[in-house]
Amino acid sequence: MTAWEIKGWCPGALRPMQSGDGLVVRIRPPLGRLTPAQANAIADASETHGNGVIDLSARANLQLRGVTEASHPPLIQDLRAQGLIDPDIKTESLRNLIVTPFRPVGAGDSTAALADTLTAALSRMPRLPGKFGFALDTGPRPVLTGASVDIRVERCTDGRLILRPEGHPLGQPVTELAADAIAMAEWFVASGGVTNGRGRMAALIARGIVPPNCTLAPADPLPAPQPGLHPDGALIALAFGQMRAATLQALSALGHEIRPTPWRMLLLVGATSAPRITGVLTDPADPILRITACTGAPACPQALGDTRDLARQLAPHLPGTQTLHLSGCAKGCAHPAPAALTLTATGQGYDLILDGTAADTPSLTGLSPQAILDHLKAPNAPYL
Ligand code: SF4
Repeated sequence: MTAWEIKGWCPGALRPMQSGDGLVVRIRPPLGRLTPAQANAIADASETHGNGVIDLSARANLQLRGVTEASHPPLIQDLRAQGLIDPDIKTESLRNLIVTPFRPVGAGDSTAALADTLTAALSRMPRLPGKFGFALDTGPRPVLTGASVDIRVERCTDGRLILRPEGHPLGQPVTELAADAIAMAEWFVASGGVTNGRGRMAALIARGIVPPNCTLAPADPLPAPQPGLHPDGALIALAFGQMRAATLQALSALGHEIRPTPWRMLLLVGATSAPRITGVLTDPADPILRITACTGAPACPQALGDTRDLARQLAPHLPGTQTLHLSGCAKGCAHPAPAALTLTATGQGYDLILDGTAADTPSLTGLSPQAILDHLKAPNAPYL
């Protein structure tokens, strides 16, 4: 029994989720990209119908915060005019697809055709859990390996496409993408992957249950990308994956196609220099990028303490290459996996957890923000 609420589904635009600062409206950019006009419309809609705060989710979606019951219908109308809204909730909730941001523009973008094929196939999938997702990671080497999905489309070193179930090192050769993806989803359901409407592929694989014909290894994955210039454009970061509407307006005014990524960064396609815009981080050495912090109090109703203000205070004192996960409660939304160093708000200060998740047994408990700062500033801090 957990102390926090597990929803088992992701918010959408048509089915927003209530949070401490209003409705969270999640936009799933079609094929993982936004035109400058679409990005500008999202920024305008955030200011007009929300509180002007926009999150970038770990599934490469954009979330508008602070929307109300009254402002939701006109918001949807504005976004629908930009081609950003699915026809209905069912279609929207099925479209759990992350597309690699690193791919050519225009006719050379074979990934876009694959994304169209896979998107069309989603409506023919068996009934899958709400968080079940797909990654189309079809560059020469996978780059989305850190993203939380269930079925991956990747390439072998010889360029062949494979379908790899999350948690297994090998995948099946792809003969016909739509049919093969549907078959793997059907296998997942038939093999007992779903219990009470929930379940993830990695958990099924961990039970030793593996789909047939998984014989091909993907090419070696690329390391997690850093902010800076890449062959496809400029990758810019946002502290905690959050920006003000004005930042997105300024980015859209640069005129580049914008591709949200699961690394809480945006790719400005074709940009040859890093933009200087308030709220945009372009230095990979910026210590704030070494802190993962969830929404926390007051915007998350389950939070037992602040996260992001504290993260900003701690960042300049974080030594060397030290990373930190700051969680508003033991649910650990922002980093469900173990982290080297985690601070979890408890309502009685913060617990410090070493090499564990936000819910693991702490090494120190009840730390005040000042005690944490003092600890970080101490020479040879014993827990770092
Ligand atoms: S981990 Fe953070 S965002 Fe998730 S429920 Fe707890 S406080 Fe809210």
